Amino acid sequence: METKVLKLESPTYQEVIEKGAMIIKNGGLVAFPTETVYGLGANGLDQEAVCKIYEAKGRPSDNPMILHISSREMLKKLVRDIPKAAEDCMDMFWPGPLTMIFFKKDIIPEKVCAGLDTVAIRMPSDSFARNLIEGSGVPIAAPSANTSGRPSPTKASHVLEDMAGKIDLIVDGGPTEVGIESTVLDMTVNPPMLLRPGGVTLEDLKALLGEVDVDPALLGGKPKEVLHPKSPGQKYKHYAPKAECLLFAGNLKNVAKEVDKRIKENPNKKIAVLATEETLDLYREKPYLMINMGSREHLQEIAHNIFNALRECDEAEVDLIYVEGFSFQGMGQGIMNRLLKACGGKVVLGL
Ligand code: AMP
Ligand code: MG
Repeated sequence: METKVLKLESPTYQEVIEKGAMIIKNGGLVAFPTETVYGLGANGLDQEAVCKIYEAKGRPSDNPMILHISSREMLKKLVRDIPKAAEDCMDMFWPGPLTMIFFKKDIIPEKVCAGLDTVAIRMPSDSFARNLIEGSGVPIAAPSANTSGRPSPTKASHVLEDMAGKIDLIVDGGPTEVGIESTVLDMTVNPPMLLRPGGVTLEDLKALLGEVDVDPALLGGKPKEVLHPKSPGQKYKHYAPKAECLLFAGNLKNVAKEVDKRIKENPNKKIAVLATEETLDLYREKPYLMINMGSREHLQEIAHNIFNALRECDEAEVDLIYVEGFSFQGMGQGIMNRLLKACGGKVVLGL
């Protein structure tokens, strides 16, 4: 299959929407930008189309997908019950990077929810994404548009790397804004439970809802030891670059010292260091590749850059990646969740 790539305005915005919507209506696959990461979309009410997503991504069939909607009217057709707390979240965070779990109606094909009685739903704030959904007239099932297990795509070129020849169309809307995926909040339990940290922080949710539980699987940090997470996707290898990746947490001067020591001990290895504005000058050794992920004062900037940084390491074909850790406050929770998974839980603590 030939994969077409279209810029947002080529030849006009409206034509791109129409082409994308036509493919979705005909059961094909379209990768498109959202404010979080690029999504790989199919008609969320068409079981066969949804199966194509699992195939293109190599996604395990027990990992359910998020349905993307463009209006609250659409939501009512898909779910059995909308609790008051969910209404409050919609008023505050929709459209935006918050996914909520509801009890599903039968209209949703089983494959979307991997056999669960619940469904994950989000209304993206990216206007192209919403226009595409509206144009298609159906909810769009869209996981991140990467090969399963790899870092999520935040640029159209990332999608092309993974999906060339496997999908009908990639819409290039430039780099995505948030850079990590949506927050997933389970609204079928009381209090609501955070299943995946992301673009909306736990602090923001607590400020609105009061009590919010956190899935115990999130607190472990070592994916292999978490056997039965509530969110099936959490148990899989995720966001992993090709090279071995190791996270260093603690006092930043000590982190730099430890990384320097390891660079010195491995003169024959191509090592990448993922550092930050504030720490760049702390390193004495020069690694094969040094990436500045941004300022620690602006965690949004770090979130925006991490997946691109991991893919740059792949491109440079490094052997080892050493990455600095962050606090779990605010966006730090989502950033650390992605980095810990990218490292497969391999962390040097207590520095
Ligand atoms: P992705 O599509 O890569 O952004 O991942 C979607 C995330 O939402 C995965 O972690 C899924 O496990 C999670 N998810 C989707 N549907 C459900 C559901 N019904 N219940 C719990 N988690 C879900
Ligand atoms: Mg994903």
